Amino acid sequence: MERKILLNPGPATTTDTVKYAQIVPDICPREKEFVKLMKQIREDLVKVVHGAPEEYTSVLFCGSGTISMDVCLNSLLPAGKKVLVVNNGAYSSRAAEICNYYDLPYIDLKFSVDVLPDLGEIETVLESDPDIALVYATHNETGTGILNPIREIGALAHKYHAAFVVDTTSTYAMRPIYIKEDNIDFCMASAQKGLMAMTGVSYVIGNRKLIEESRHFPKRSYYCNLYMQYEYFEKHGEMHFTPPVQTLYALKQALKEYFEEGEEEKWDRHSRVFEAIHKELDKLGFRDVIKREWQAGLVVAVKYPEDENWDFDKIHDYCYERGFTIYPGKIGDAKTFRLCALGAIDEKDISDFFHVFREGLQEMRVKIPAVYHEVSNEEE
Ligand SMILES: *Cc1c(COP(=O)(O)O)cnc(C)c1O
Repeated sequence: MERKILLNPGPATTTDTVKYAQIVPDICPREKEFVKLMKQIREDLVKVVHGAPEEYTSVLFCGSGTISMDVCLNSLLPAGKKVLVVNNGAYSSRAAEICNYYDLPYIDLKFSVDVLPDLGEIETVLESDPDIALVYATHNETGTGILNPIREIGALAHKYHAAFVVDTTSTYAMRPIYIKEDNIDFCMASAQKGLMAMTGVSYVIGNRKLIEESRHFPKRSYYCNLYMQYEYFEKHGEMHFTPPVQTLYALKQALKEYFEEGEEEKWDRHSRVFEAIHKELDKLGFRDVIKREWQAGLVVAVKYPEDENWDFDKIHDYCYERGFTIYPGKIGDAKTFRLCALGAIDEKDISDFFHVFREGLQEMRVKIPAVYHEVSNEEE
């Protein structure tokens, strides 16, 4: 199979063994054999974040990553209570939008996208509003690549007796996560990101006791209710409605490869790739958006050079035709693009990519080093 290098923030580059794991004899997912597969996957998903199986469980849904955000928000809020969204980026804004669409009472606590949320401000809001029962934050804001202090935010949530939901979609199975020590009650991800599996299945990993309590909360969705899906899994060992069968075989293989590679080794590999991206960008004089020490180590949001010959679509197409996919930015009106360290790639792929990227820039007559009129972060 031709190998393509995806530098977009998911779906990620996958191994051929994961791709081919989808080719299986036809099977009805109500068979015992499939129930066994689901059981193994559910246990492994909890293991990735070091959760004790008595205390934490995982619940799968057929959908992209956003379904997990939707599920947590619509299922985990008791009647008459409020959600606090800690918002410093596009993905937490999406969470606020979900609250809005479900008519959930919520506070959208906004911070600038290029800074860490202020813990003092979060505490002030929690202190002043005892109705807040759910605090929501994003671990790695994939639009900017900033890493939020979830352990600290979680400690505050718990101090004020609120449950803590974290969108870990772009860190799960990449950056090591310890669900209990990190003060997380619920986290989430999607198979096509950290686990380097296929699109179409996503999961919530969370506190079993809190899920059981949520049976009494208002049911705001039929297909996407966490308790209903959990209860069906507990009773029958499978998803309530038809699961994405072949996608789950790929996920099983991806989990096997995850544990074979090892948590630490995998994180080292992503870090290597991330450092290589930075090194090559520095050589070309490209600038990024977020202070280096705040970056999660997975996404680099790069500023467009201020060069009349720069054209993102053109350079994108140039790279794409040569097997490399780069991705537009997601920071309001700011002119950025992204290079990500997700997937089954290593340093060599990054040097190969930058070889092509530099060639493309030269063909477009973009100046190297890249031109910026503003003073850089380092020079300030
Ligand atoms: C990718 C991602 C999602 C989910 O996006 P989908 O397009 O629905 O898969 C959610 N949150 C974060 C932080 C992400 O990176």
